[in-house]
Amino acid sequence: MTHKVLVLAGDGIGPEIVAEARKVLEALRRGFGLAVELEEGLVGGAAIDATGTPLPEATLRLAREADAVLLGAVGGPKWDDLPSERRPEKGLLGLRGGLGLFANLRPAVLYPELAAASTLRAEVVAGLDMLIVRELTGGIYFGEPRGIRTRPDGVREGVNTMVYSEPEIERIARVAFEAARRRGRRVCSVDKANVLEVSALWREVVTRVAADYPDVELAHMYVDNAAMQLVRAPRQFDVMVTGNLFGDILSDCAAMLTGSIGMLPSASLDAAGKGMYEPIHGSAPDIAGRGVANPLATILSVAMMLRHSLGEGELAGRVEAAVREVLAAGLRTPDIDGGEGTRRVGTKEMGDAVAAALLAQA
Ligand code: NAD
Repeated sequence: MTHKVLVLAGDGIGPEIVAEARKVLEALRRGFGLAVELEEGLVGGAAIDATGTPLPEATLRLAREADAVLLGAVGGPKWDDLPSERRPEKGLLGLRGGLGLFANLRPAVLYPELAAASTLRAEVVAGLDMLIVRELTGGIYFGEPRGIRTRPDGVREGVNTMVYSEPEIERIARVAFEAARRRGRRVCSVDKANVLEVSALWREVVTRVAADYPDVELAHMYVDNAAMQLVRAPRQFDVMVTGNLFGDILSDCAAMLTGSIGMLPSASLDAAGKGMYEPIHGSAPDIAGRGVANPLATILSVAMMLRHSLGEGELAGRVEAAVREVLAAGLRTPDIDGGEGTRRVGTKEMGDAVAAALLAQA
């Protein structure tokens, strides 16, 4: 079976880093017989310039037809003054909504070679390898009623509603338990069940789902404690599952533990395992076009795509091993500059090195 992948390079450094991810796919094709067919589409600012809209109908159609979508990044100063409905970021939201991508997976891995990049002491973060599973299409970001209104007494108030249905909680919990089975077999569910009814239901449903995964250990943690534990002793976590709002905040916090925004991939999945894969960073307009962007987050997004959407877990492991190998060999883009014993390289050289390391495994 040939896998169909839609590639959306986007804006800023997007095209530069996606070009390196394509090299990796090409190496997998040549070295390991990966059957993959790549389509290209427009999204974000590039799509606005070409078609007037950040998510052209053709792109959404191609995304629906593909087995997975690989995205660079969108946005940039050129489009900052557009009304919010026409901004590049709307393209991403439209893809997430249009494809029903309810599960956001964000690994936070600290490579031993980069321990010095973290703002935390090396002994606290060395060996960190956790996965945050965030619910992406529900919760307070979408709940109704919402808005700013004026009460009868003339006082204005803002309203948002945190709401989760049992099926919404159950499906995200299953994503977390399934992911845990492929890792350390531990899930920590994060909520605020001591104050919020929506969290009490969350905890009840997650506990019920856990009965189907007797081989996975479940713990619960209040979100305030989880924030504290993330910076106190982050290595205690394997898989963390939580709602949209808590996950938004905690996943950024976990990402920063690794100190290297150019290293972190992400996946957003639908109920059937189809997904959109992208680095967590943006389009980095400050370094776009200079050939210095770190392509590893995008290359590691390819690894996630192989594992979660294409059923090619073994090849995913090979890509991750190739990344570890080039880091161990001392190659560094400027954002992860390592000083002594390392060699500074650009975007292309880093991509070439990963592709070569892969082919050497073949
Ligand atoms: P950013 O992530 O683009 O950049 C933050 C800093 O990190 C910059 O100094 C940048 O140079 C650096 N950086 C980011 N990725 C890097 C990489 N691969 N290699 C080396 N350095 C890297 O965030 P920002 O500056 O706040 O946003 C820039 C634009 O990107 C904005 O238009 C924003 O809306 C957009 N954005 C898009 C996404 C996305 O496409 N998913 C996410 C966040 C921001």
